[in-house]
Amino acid sequence: MSSLFTPSLHRQRHDFVVDFVRRNNPHKVVDLGCADCSLLQKLRFHRQIELLVGVDLNGAKLRKKMHGLAPLSTNYLQPTCNQLCVQLYQGSVTQKDARLRGFDLVTSIELIEHLSLDDLDRFSEVVFGYMAPQTVIISTPNSEFNRLFPEMSGFRHSDHKFEWTRVEFQSWSLNVCSEFGYAAEFTGVGQAPPGQEESIGFCTQIGVFHRLTVDRGGLTLGDDAGHNFPYMLLYSVTYPSLRDQNILRKTLVSEMLYWAEKMKKEWLEKLTEKHEEENPVEKNKRGGGEEYGEIFWTNGHELQCQTLHRHVSVPLHLLWNCCPKLRELSGSLGNLSQLVIDDPQIQMNRSRSAVIICSLEHANCGHAVFLDLEDEDSNDWMDSGYVESSHVEEENWETDF
Ligand code: SAM
Repeated sequence: MSSLFTPSLHRQRHDFVVDFVRRNNPHKVVDLGCADCSLLQKLRFHRQIELLVGVDLNGAKLRKKMHGLAPLSTNYLQPTCNQLCVQLYQGSVTQKDARLRGFDLVTSIELIEHLSLDDLDRFSEVVFGYMAPQTVIISTPNSEFNRLFPEMSGFRHSDHKFEWTRVEFQSWSLNVCSEFGYAAEFTGVGQAPPGQEESIGFCTQIGVFHRLTVDRGGLTLGDDAGHNFPYMLLYSVTYPSLRDQNILRKTLVSEMLYWAEKMKKEWLEKLTEKHEEENPVEKNKRGGGEEYGEIFWTNGHELQCQTLHRHVSVPLHLLWNCCPKLRELSGSLGNLSQLVIDDPQIQMNRSRSAVIICSLEHANCGHAVFLDLEDEDSNDWMDSGYVESSHVEEENWETDF
């Protein structure tokens, strides 16, 4: 019956949350009753989220899916500026756990109807009274819509303890609001057929609750309840981030080598053309490692391309000018030089004003072996170990309406 909707109702509920997150930029988000973690899977791609937590009573379900939340290779290749931590807890939403306080957004998608009415009261106290997030999104079936499923008897799922009409959901919500200081707005997903939108409403009804007070509800210092940790942490992973100095350095090095290599190629091509124009007889005698030692111009930049004994010296300030990412990540030329100076992949000249790379077109890119160390900077140069920059772009609740 869920195939009545395209995209599926399950997808529409998650899209609703994702859209809210996109528009409101919460930093800390917890999904209660996260089941197969499919909503968390989508939310982890939102860069502003720094802490993403899932809670479910069913530990087996979490264990089965938790590894799908591990960072992807692209997260390592293109780390972001924020520091995302993803955690999964096994626990009940009827219990207070201090680690769940101070969140910006709590979502509870198709969860409350699985709770007994006593547990629902505890849920309200835990979520609105204790966790007291800025915003709570709650979705639950709209029982008025069930009349469009004539073959269905009872509830939409065997584990449901109740299904509410819009009036029932809204009156529960407004009680919660007045007790805990929230304001609610109501909407939904899963549109009724044309002409019946008003009389039936959405298949899934959704309440979005905003906390009215600015202070953090139960987050008072010295609160004994702050030491409650009944939930069991099943999974925790921190995504690679540019806030980690090692990752920042690797990213800068990769970027520098990519641009240095690119510039070197352009310069050598121009140099070759120029040399061949001036010395047409030598055109066919060219080898890969000739020395030119010239300075010339291209694309408005002073090239200062010095091929010294099969090495090219690429001035840092040119890399800085050409690559916005280097500027953005390091902040200043001095920082850039400081951050990469000790990296084994980077060889710099004595004055630290230029990166030295191999000029041989046919050189094995994994290791550029420097053959001639006669010039004044020669003591700074070793077998570089230069590695070319790698720029790689690079229980089915669905049926639960
Ligand atoms: N939120 C999920 C989604 O959007 O895909 C689907 C939720 S599923 C319909 C209900 C989930 O609530 C189940 O995974 C169940 O284990 C969990 N659950 C039921 N009672 C709970 C409780 N007291 N505390 C935490 N989770 C609970």
